[in-house]
Amino acid sequence: MDRALALAAEASASQDVPVGAVVTDAAGRTIGEGRNLREATHDPTAHAEVVALRAAAAATGSWNLEGCTLVVTLEPCLMCAGAALQSRVSRLVFGAWDDKAGAAGSMYDVVRDRRLPHRAEVVAGVREAEASALLRDFFDQRR
Ligand SMILES: [Zn+2]
Repeated sequence: MDRALALAAEASASQDVPVGAVVTDAAGRTIGEGRNLREATHDPTAHAEVVALRAAAAATGSWNLEGCTLVVTLEPCLMCAGAALQSRVSRLVFGAWDDKAGAAGSMYDVVRDRRLPHRAEVVAGVREAEASALLRDFFDQRR
């Protein structure tokens, strides 16, 4: 989460909402990382989680990231929760809750939906205060 928070802090340099993500393998080694690049790349799908999952898949040479953990500073949205399931990561760790668009326990709980063939273990609220403060400061500065 340390690295994810540092990546989130870098996102605001390109006026992107500060969200950072890291993928670690079963041994805890970082195999992919990313930050929100939606503004920087004009790509609506360039959320931190998608960027990190793509990097991890490229690094391992496989889309299947079973056994891996996705660590992200903000609760994933529907797209990112879907991407996490498609990658088959075993665990999702996130910092701040997203009461408006979260899809891992607040608005929706896509990653633990028993109707779907794959689910991920969820650990929520890790260093929540720091992750929330980054977001709050970012939006305060834009007002
Ligand atoms: Zn997302």
